[in-house]
Amino acid sequence: MVILGLGSNLGNRAIHLKRAISRLSRGSGAVLHAVRLSRIYESPALTPTGAPAAWDLPYLNCALSGETTLEPRALLRHIQEMERSLGRQDHERWAPRVIDIDILWWDGREMRSDDLTIPHPQILERPFVLEPLRDLIPDAILDSETLSAHASRVGAGVSVGEVLDPSTEAHRVGGVLPPAAPSPEADFEVRYPTLMGILNVTPNSFSDGGQFTEPEIAVEHARRLVEEGAGIIDVGAESTRPDGAAVDPATEWARVEPVLHGLRELQGELRTSGRRDPFRISIDSRNPSTLRSALEVGVDILNDVTGFSRPEMLEIAEDTDVPLVFMHSLSIPVVKGESIPPDRDSVEFLIAWAEERLAEFDRRGITRHRLIFDPGIGFGKTARQSWHILEHVERFHDLEIPLLVGHSRKSFLQTVTDKPSAERDAETLTVSRDLIGKGVEVLRVHDVKGHAKLLSRERMNPVGRSRV
Ligand code: ADP
Ligand code: MG
Repeated sequence: MVILGLGSNLGNRAIHLKRAISRLSRGSGAVLHAVRLSRIYESPALTPTGAPAAWDLPYLNCALSGETTLEPRALLRHIQEMERSLGRQDHERWAPRVIDIDILWWDGREMRSDDLTIPHPQILERPFVLEPLRDLIPDAILDSETLSAHASRVGAGVSVGEVLDPSTEAHRVGGVLPPAAPSPEADFEVRYPTLMGILNVTPNSFSDGGQFTEPEIAVEHARRLVEEGAGIIDVGAESTRPDGAAVDPATEWARVEPVLHGLRELQGELRTSGRRDPFRISIDSRNPSTLRSALEVGVDILNDVTGFSRPEMLEIAEDTDVPLVFMHSLSIPVVKGESIPPDRDSVEFLIAWAEERLAEFDRRGITRHRLIFDPGIGFGKTARQSWHILEHVERFHDLEIPLLVGHSRKSFLQTVTDKPSAERDAETLTVSRDLIGKGVEVLRVHDVKGHAKLLSRERMNPVGRSRV
């Protein structure tokens, strides 16, 4: 078993960690299996005396253990190649970095050479390494003491001063090492993907229309989705499917309102029974009045299939601080045959569109950490374009915000099946497996149970918080 230490203090730190973890442990390029992930810790940067103030950016750190068939030097080359492909530039020793991956520990191996020392030489002085290691192997012995004991000693703020690194004199004022504190919010972000369960309260949705129009039945369905593993319930009352009829805002609100009240009650009930953060409610609507009313009842996420492009929608976004899903579409309801120009690379096209949206959000002071991008599979994309977008979905990570993908049961799957939409869960799962490997943060799906099962196969055995 090998343990890698990961750290990031530049850009969207949680996303960088998650991408590194996904690439190391999931999908066809994985080099680690049977992996376990420590909690995620935050700590101030370690900088040498006299370093530029701009280097003083807090880190997120974690450790990842797993089995590998690679030899140490091959693994080192692999992680260095990954650091480069994740955007790490050559830099000065203590400068901020997008990602740093080190080999901390290797059961039964000790080595010391110019380019590789195992165990990592600085473990014993660094709280941000010792704390994650303690999560994974508390009883392992280093220098005749357990890692747990080392972590307690260093975590108590022992003054180490120059001992830390005599060659560069890196230390904090007074020589006391900054502590590393668990960061639950980052833990949640890194442990993605989250499953967003679809709750259609429409009479005509393409695969489950008409099933959940009674509010009680809709809320019971939501309860089941949450029990099966949904972290978000996405409520929508307008079918955006091809040729679907647009609903007027009053009809939409009449369908949604009782369901939202029911979901709020369900949240309360689950909290009372001991679940701290039971599930989040997302409202899927492109009508400003519906969003405003929904915010009054209490929703946790706004999901707009028109990408918050109308001024009224942007104003609502400005007036609240809940996360926003902005999806790309060409027309709502979808117009059959309308698509991204076939002579454009659809991924490039979407990145350019998303960047424009991000600039607009920026101008309005809507902060990045609230934004989630959805490329809008099926909304103005040919089947071929949808497959292309899914195949290259990791390119959207350059936007530095979480990604949501909604491919569940959609018509592009007709290139691989003749089944009607309600029976396309197996095909959906096959695509999802690939998306999980590529580090997509949120999957919007009908079949939560199947996806939860898939995730439990793919997922890391969590330490500490038992969250996906
Ligand atoms: P740091 O991790 O110290 O911030 P780098 O990632 O640039 O800085 O690593 C510097 C060098 O450390 C690498 O070129 C690598 O050869 C060497 N090294 C020695 N032991 C290890 C180890 N266990 N894991 C990763 N790198 C190591
Ligand atoms: Mg390194």
